[in-house]
Amino acid sequence: MRYVSTRGQCPAVGFTDAVLSGLAPDGGLYVPEAWPTFSRARIEGFAGKPYAEVAAAVIGAFAGDEIPAADLREMCEEAYATFNHKAVVPLVQIGPDAFLAELFHGPSLAFKDVAMQILARLYDHLLGAQGRTQTILCATSGDTGGAAVEAFRGRKNVKIVALFPEGRISEVQRRFMTTAEEDNVACVAVTGTFDDCQAIVKQAFQDQSLRQAVDLTGVNSINFARIAAQAVYYFTTAVALGAPHRKVSFCVPSGNFGDAFAGYVAMRMGLPVARIATATNANDILARAFETGRYVRGAVQPTISPAMDIQSASNFERLYFETVKREPVETARAFQAFAEAGAIDIPPSAYAAMREVFRGVSIGEDETARTIVSTLNETGELIDPHTAVGVAALRHVDLPGPVVVLSTAHAAKFPDDVAKACGAMPALPRGVANLADRRERFDRLPAEAETIKAYVRAFAER
Ligand SMILES: *Cc1c(COP(=O)(O)O)cnc(C)c1O
Repeated sequence: MRYVSTRGQCPAVGFTDAVLSGLAPDGGLYVPEAWPTFSRARIEGFAGKPYAEVAAAVIGAFAGDEIPAADLREMCEEAYATFNHKAVVPLVQIGPDAFLAELFHGPSLAFKDVAMQILARLYDHLLGAQGRTQTILCATSGDTGGAAVEAFRGRKNVKIVALFPEGRISEVQRRFMTTAEEDNVACVAVTGTFDDCQAIVKQAFQDQSLRQAVDLTGVNSINFARIAAQAVYYFTTAVALGAPHRKVSFCVPSGNFGDAFAGYVAMRMGLPVARIATATNANDILARAFETGRYVRGAVQPTISPAMDIQSASNFERLYFETVKREPVETARAFQAFAEAGAIDIPPSAYAAMREVFRGVSIGEDETARTIVSTLNETGELIDPHTAVGVAALRHVDLPGPVVVLSTAHAAKFPDDVAKACGAMPALPRGVANLADRRERFDRLPAEAETIKAYVRAFAER
């Protein structure tokens, strides 16, 4: 399986290089040269199978012959054994034809664990085969850092430095990073904002000498392996609800569009998907794109679903590429224009193709809070604010039944906002209940690129 850039200005690469490099050198995103497909019978055969087995089948279709099937199977077994639910991604019914897919049973209680746990094992495997060590540098506004540290701690061939804005993430989020004891992990409280952290990461990646010295890499949601890993639960949940014999719809709380795009990937692989709704908070760039045909950046507004406070949904470039019939020149033109002017007018034929599958809904803060209350009253389920955005969207969009809402975080990850909305304080699940007692370890640095670059270099060379 070869991977091409959405901007077409660099050569095709194999799965290993696509995974380890993340962004393509021409600034585009890697996509498979052709979508692998499963027959109806193969999809039917996923029913009742262990999650790790379906994961190995789906990810294996993208890895091709670059990873031996037995090794991949073992990595999937290990990755999903870290989840504290035997189903890995269980379904919970919340209405006559509506279900929650609980994606939050992983080590850091957010859906990012589903992809990050397997990504870390893929990195270790692929780097080990090349005798190489890489250093991951990531900035986090909350969930990504915790999921990445949980996944990469103790890996042999990878070191990780996580930057977070001091005092601006929740205690639970911070502790998932800072209580890791392994010495391949470094956490840094930056005295600045998340934007400062991101700007520093960007500067570090632009420093060629540092990049080479520590073999710098990233794990953000543009990495194709994360998309492949997220396609898995579209298969397991749809099959549990009767696919491939009937179509299933999905409603996806969205920020960077990685999760919702993975649903499109599952569809291209042969899964009968009726419709995918992207549910956003007030940061509604995606909702507007799907409802108006214009993809236009707005100002970022802070909300109670902070993992979705994004006004430039990186993975949208992959869908654009598909719907302009894989025209790299047009894709490059559009996204260069977006970088400069912050807007793209989606060509009518591409927009029509998007509308065959996608809908967009934006949900305000009051409705999100009210949905936490109504869901608790009507079903007994205590949901987090991100999931609430998805559940609220069901009232605004026509999704042919059965509908799966992706539940992207455990309520205990956002205890204050959940308690404020409905008066119930969510408890941490067993296994992480002692999070507050674990010893924390992190360094504190000013928001200065040079200082942090020197820190990364010293840590990587230690
Ligand atoms: C990252 C995240 C999202 C958004 O996912 P995208 O792939 O960026 O669209 C939604 N909910 C939670 C809890 C997250 O951590």
